[in-house]
Amino acid sequence: MKKHLSLFILSAGILLISCKSNQPHSASKTERKKPKNIILMIGDGMGLAQVYAAMVANGMWLHLEKLPVIGLHKSYSSDNLITDSAAGATAFSIGKKTFNGAIGVDSSGAAKETILEEAHRRGLATGMVVTCAVTHATPASFVAHQPSRAMNEAIALDFLSGSADCIIGGGRQYFTKREDGRNLTQEMQKMGYFFTDQLAEVEKSKGTKLLALIAQDELPKMSEGRNSYLPKATELALKKLSISKNGFFLMVEGSQIDWGGHNNDPDYIIRETIDFDETIKTVLQFAEKDGETLVVVTADHETGGLAINGGSKEKRTIDAAFTTKKHTGILIPVYSFGPGSELFGGIYENTAIFHKMKTLMTW
Ligand code: MG
Ligand code: ZN
Repeated sequence: MKKHLSLFILSAGILLISCKSNQPHSASKTERKKPKNIILMIGDGMGLAQVYAAMVANGMWLHLEKLPVIGLHKSYSSDNLITDSAAGATAFSIGKKTFNGAIGVDSSGAAKETILEEAHRRGLATGMVVTCAVTHATPASFVAHQPSRAMNEAIALDFLSGSADCIIGGGRQYFTKREDGRNLTQEMQKMGYFFTDQLAEVEKSKGTKLLALIAQDELPKMSEGRNSYLPKATELALKKLSISKNGFFLMVEGSQIDWGGHNNDPDYIIRETIDFDETIKTVLQFAEKDGETLVVVTADHETGGLAINGGSKEKRTIDAAFTTKKHTGILIPVYSFGPGSELFGGIYENTAIFHKMKTLMTW
């Protein structure tokens, strides 16, 4: 009897061990290290064809290829098969499907704490770097709560919550030339933000934790001389945020890939996607060295219905065709690197990106 019992305990133990090892998500702590920092990179409108177009133009490779785990997300919004950038970014920021145009609110219109705001509340450093106005749909969805993306001045006011330590992009006019007559740049300076509109001025912000680099209007296109603004600004943001002992959350957007799609302009798409890829290089250099940073690269949706109908690898050209000047509905790739990246394989809702990031945060 005793012998049987111990045999039973032994085999139950073996069963338990083998069960455990069959479930990758229940692996021991040492195997599943949580990241200290999370960098979410959004190529607005960057579907698979945009990536391949940039790859061809770049000599058949991109830095993006270094991200080893690939998944796909379902991009539809709560009220439309085709999402816009507001509902798309809000799915990532609050983990709920919402209606097109919604900024940081759920489908009932209720404001929900974003992942950036929660990171801030729990003592992590937070930031965003974009190539559009910081009040534009994608960045706004991480710090603001408004029923419409068109409410640029109300969105700018939401930046006074101070949830983002590092704010880099355009749209200064919504902070200074306002209907309510307030000058938000002055108010933010009083809050401790170093405020400038020049990338070159950022060096002077040494010693201040809070930085707002907000240029007038949108930032120029790559073809109009933006040069390495996005990778450089991202490097500066990483320098600033990585001082935080508690880790950080950073959102980086290649904002204008989408605009190239709306314009049905393959050259615009390719140059913006390659610039975004250069920024991925900067981020990966940081993450590889750091070893505690999860990098997730994705898009909110595809724009233009881009297809590649021909071209030349040797000449690095594509014959592009478009189905629309708007967004399309298609599965969107998610590329990830670093501790926790194993959670990002498979097919899932766009909202799952929020839940996966949240599971991995070390709070
Ligand atoms: Mg955007
Ligand atoms: Zn768009």
